[in-house]
Amino acid sequence: QSETPEALRVVNLLQERNLLPPGTVTVPTPCLPQDLQKLNCSPEVFRCTLTSIPQTQALLNKAKLPLGLLLHPFKDLSQLPVVTSSNIVRCRSCRTYINPFVSFMDQRKWKCNLCYRVNDVPEEFMYNPVSRSYGTPHKRPEVQNATIEFIAPSEYMLRPPQPAVYLFILDVSHNAVETGYLDVVCQTLLENLDALPGDTRTKIGFITFDSTVHFYNLQEGLSQPQMLIVSDIEDVFIPTPDCLLVNLKEGKELVQDLLKSLPQMFCKTMETQSALGPALQSAFKLLSPTGGRMSVFQTQLPTVGAGALKPREEAAQKASAKDVQHLAPATDFYKKLALDCSGHQVAVDLFLLSAQYCDLSSLGCIARYSAGSVHYYPSYHKHHNPSQTERFLKDLKRYLTRKIGFEAVMRIRCTKGMSIHTFHGNFFVRSTDLLSLPNVNPDAGFAVQMSIDENLLDMQAVSFQAALLYTSSKGERRIRVHTLCLPVVNSLSDIFAGADVQAITCLLASMAVDRSVTASLSDARDALTNAAIDSLTSYRTSVLTIQQPGLLIPTCLRLFPLYILALLKHKAFRTGASAPLDERVFAMCQLKYQPLAYIMLMIHPALYRVDDMTDEGALNIEERTIPQPRVLQLSVEKLSRDAAFLMDNGTVMYLWIGRNCSPAFITQVLGVESYAAIPQNMTQLPELDTSESCRTRAFIDWLRERRPFYPTLHIIRDESQLKADFMQNMIEDRTESALSYYEFLLHLQQQHP
Ligand SMILES: [Zn+2]
Repeated sequence: QSETPEALRVVNLLQERNLLPPGTVTVPTPCLPQDLQKLNCSPEVFRCTLTSIPQTQALLNKAKLPLGLLLHPFKDLSQLPVVTSSNIVRCRSCRTYINPFVSFMDQRKWKCNLCYRVNDVPEEFMYNPVSRSYGTPHKRPEVQNATIEFIAPSEYMLRPPQPAVYLFILDVSHNAVETGYLDVVCQTLLENLDALPGDTRTKIGFITFDSTVHFYNLQEGLSQPQMLIVSDIEDVFIPTPDCLLVNLKEGKELVQDLLKSLPQMFCKTMETQSALGPALQSAFKLLSPTGGRMSVFQTQLPTVGAGALKPREEAAQKASAKDVQHLAPATDFYKKLALDCSGHQVAVDLFLLSAQYCDLSSLGCIARYSAGSVHYYPSYHKHHNPSQTERFLKDLKRYLTRKIGFEAVMRIRCTKGMSIHTFHGNFFVRSTDLLSLPNVNPDAGFAVQMSIDENLLDMQAVSFQAALLYTSSKGERRIRVHTLCLPVVNSLSDIFAGADVQAITCLLASMAVDRSVTASLSDARDALTNAAIDSLTSYRTSVLTIQQPGLLIPTCLRLFPLYILALLKHKAFRTGASAPLDERVFAMCQLKYQPLAYIMLMIHPALYRVDDMTDEGALNIEERTIPQPRVLQLSVEKLSRDAAFLMDNGTVMYLWIGRNCSPAFITQVLGVESYAAIPQNMTQLPELDTSESCRTRAFIDWLRERRPFYPTLHIIRDESQLKADFMQNMIEDRTESALSYYEFLLHLQQQHP
């Protein structure tokens, strides 16, 4: 028993109730020799659900855990080795890039770690540009870094690198004008025109639409932008194609004029219709010669022309409480258009700002199959909903200024014997392992499911390599390569010992989204529960040597049932307290598209007590002291009336103030006299010159800085309307329609034989 690794130490979930670690959950380290592990890819970029790979599919089936990879391939990195080499060294047989996990037979030959072919080391590779020495090919940067970027020579392009092209498509119906979103878009764009990624070739254009489609001629020499209206939405054509997308540098003044006047142009509009489909068709025609990025801002259900949609939500609500209807798209119009876009290197990003049902399950297809992204601001209104406005503004700034890659493809290779059978994320699958990405952005996550087709006998380790080929905003063709190496094992206990509970949870979440859409929500929920039951049963019957009563689980999976319960109560999969249909669909989009770190926060929010934070254990970053309060379990048992708690669920933060919270905290952090004086709908902390205020703000700012989107903050007390939302996240507690954590554990125990 003394030889049992910590990951396999047995935990009885029914007895041990405080299993949540006080800080971040540790990522398992692959069990590799130290010199190899030192070179391995960062888990922030590349992670596997099982850090020890089963030798056979039979063994994998027996473990009842899903095998898959999670990737954040274009993540912003503080350090990235860039190699400029005329000759990129790749395996002649499987085209794998030379990497830290190949083996050198001698100075002149290397063996591919994916297909085992022996390749020659080219003469240039013998020279090491870093150490400026000759004859040490194993010291080259390509073999010393699991993440690396190559500047690609001309054979990596089918045509000259495209310039950055940005097209903005703006809903200007009465409803859209009423929300006031145009001000924010135009103002933010004005402020960031020079920060848009690109060079002297960057192009920009604008389309607005209501029941008709409006183009803007921005040709050099005009004294002001010229609006061209196409009212025949059944057959949209492009008036003067050359003047609608203009060089940003040359046409900047006209663009600025347009952005300044746009918010006022439609303020008296009586147009209530929305011809989104025809607007998108026009935009596609405009962008298809070059490719680029389409940013679509929509505030209501499209009502006229191709792609018009019908309200379906009511029927969905009336359906049985156990299942939700209309999770699948109502039409394939948006998917088809997205595939056309994808074929012409055009990606579509959708910003939905709406108080009403917009049928996101249909609209979302436009982004999903074109490698775009969906951003959703329910009940957006400039005056009535200031926190959404703030969030939209911050998100938009990030969106406009973050880096971008155009005309990209990503291929994920695995060692011979393994294969990928399902992909999750926003893209178009062009061939079995090639994803087409008209745009690639640094905030996109991907997941894949794998199987073992041939037994991995006699293999010590296997590798996975993701290669992302793209055109940078400066017109360079680049290849970013990540390589992950993992050991192969042949016993169930070793497989369990290497299980990565967060990666497993995120992969299951993506699988459950697919299941909800193709089968039903109840099927998806059952599959989630069964994943927990089956793996626990497998562990108990095949790994445990001592039988004892209780719900036994290895330490590395101790949070698995908790995360599964959290998923069952997540907005995407919950029953009972039903979420509006679009919000549910958006939650599903997020689970498919966000990188692991943010999905985990959305599934299992972090709860902290913040009225007694100290500098003990605090971080010091750039002369700021950032307190690090411990993470608490999501149960009302952890709350206290005389304290204050911050809950961070990724996109929203709640600061809950207890009724008897110390007056010092209320005055020195909230800046109000008493509990009763805390205003309803308070969404900002005042900048007070007190140490409590500094500490609280430093902590919240730090949390916000660590993600690319901006979470809103809601300060709530017992009487607040939002209290119910806050309490919904207390996933360990029982609700009218859902089990408590303890009840769920008992349920799992009864289910497994
Ligand atoms: Zn090879």
